[in-house]
Amino acid sequence: MGEQAERVEPSRRRFVGGALTSVAAVSVGTPLWSGATLSGCQPEPPLPDGLFALGIASGDPRPESVVLWTRLAPAPVAGGGMPAVDVPVTWEVASDEGFRHVVRRGLVKAKPRWGHSVHAIAEGLRPDRWYWYRFRVDDQVSPVGRTRTTPAPGRGDDLRFLFASCQNWRQGFFTAWEHAPAEDPDLVVHLGDYIYESGGGSGVRDHNSGEVVTLDEYRNRWGLYKGDPALQAVHAACPWVVTWDDHEVENNYAGLHPQDTADAPTFAARRAAAYQAWWEHQPVRLAPPSDENLRIYRTVDWGQLARFHVLDTRQHRSDQACGGTELGESCDERLEPARTLLGTDQEAWLGRSLRRSHAAFDVLANQVVMTAMPLAGSLINEDQWDGYPAARTRLLDQIRAAGPDTNAVVITGDIHASGVGDLVDEAPGSQPVGTELVGTSISSSFPPDLALIAEQLIMALPHVRWANTRQRGYVSCDVSSSQLVARYRLVETALQPSSPIATATTWTVPAGHPFPQEGG
Ligand code: FE
Ligand code: CA
Repeated sequence: MGEQAERVEPSRRRFVGGALTSVAAVSVGTPLWSGATLSGCQPEPPLPDGLFALGIASGDPRPESVVLWTRLAPAPVAGGGMPAVDVPVTWEVASDEGFRHVVRRGLVKAKPRWGHSVHAIAEGLRPDRWYWYRFRVDDQVSPVGRTRTTPAPGRGDDLRFLFASCQNWRQGFFTAWEHAPAEDPDLVVHLGDYIYESGGGSGVRDHNSGEVVTLDEYRNRWGLYKGDPALQAVHAACPWVVTWDDHEVENNYAGLHPQDTADAPTFAARRAAAYQAWWEHQPVRLAPPSDENLRIYRTVDWGQLARFHVLDTRQHRSDQACGGTELGESCDERLEPARTLLGTDQEAWLGRSLRRSHAAFDVLANQVVMTAMPLAGSLINEDQWDGYPAARTRLLDQIRAAGPDTNAVVITGDIHASGVGDLVDEAPGSQPVGTELVGTSISSSFPPDLALIAEQLIMALPHVRWANTRQRGYVSCDVSSSQLVARYRLVETALQPSSPIATATTWTVPAGHPFPQEGG
């Protein structure tokens, strides 16, 4: 069958629907991509140039559909620069880079309420296919993005996904991202700390403002980060699946407990603003927030090869125990069985998601280090799963209960260091139930004066097989039905752009075997 058979007839046009209708009013019946003006919809005054300064993105792919994202923001760090009116945005998806074969198109409204962001769902696509997409407003056309659908259930021979986290603008350049498109990934999984909320200058490049608190301030911070050309190029290369960690809101917050002193309503309002800004800037298949909460944990399937269980270990967790120290001695509170990192609903969802999975690999897209990491015998990082040992025991039990065919691979961010280890509990003699691959940061620093001693303490743990605290980068994973091969791709330095990248180490996780093996 040629592509012609897929071309869209007006009567079959599909537009954004379902959960996203509140952001996407639809219109049918007029040719949307003929160059004709949208008479009657023309906003006044005329729109400024540079509507697509933040680039484009796609995400949360399925066999038949993918989310297409952009946000109209000609003044990215100065409030966006848009008039307070709805703006019609057309999108189209083609099966070729030159857009000779357009297979889907639609019209959505970018609304001031949501920062003129656009989340369009392109449906009716074929499984396991690459596509190209772009947006248009009047005579302004966006950059072209490449995206793809996932294999149909039970299908799929190979998958290359990259995972990454922690891209502090002040502490480094997005040097590693410059290399990512050349890896030709099918998917990028981002584990959080996509932005940092902190203020200030005197880094390798400065943040645009002081610490961000209000919706406008979060939007401007996102505008700064999303303007990075290396980051934009990786979004244009393939779909992403994203979750968040703490810095999208505030360092080390827990649920509705802030790190810094703030009264409850004040922090709830801050968190709601941060969640909204996150939603506005990410290509997620999620309805916009309707209150101070935003459920983001979800499942993304890659045919028979992988099920991604996308976790949120921030919004639903108990507060950090023992005074919330980043590294300190344990206390009784830490061991309380009611403490949770995922929350009751997410725990139950994850158990079901694991039990129902038939994928070769169950990949848990996680934020904070999960395996037991008591440094120097007794030092506990209360922000990690170590601070929630009862919750970790419940999760490892769920993995065991999902059956012997479950190959659990936890991918982790947060600590700005690389590591490969067996997934164990803190009880002596705990048997591994899977593998944890900890990826280093894109640009966020690990304190240089602590890097070597930390690396030695981490490597001293018997279930840790490899660690590197000194370099920045991402992890490239090749998945087949028989193995997952992880290559740690690290740049020499993120303190300047254009530093070379190299594979620091390669680890293979064979299906049906809990232990990673060095080599590929
Ligand atoms: Fe971080
Ligand atoms: Ca973090």
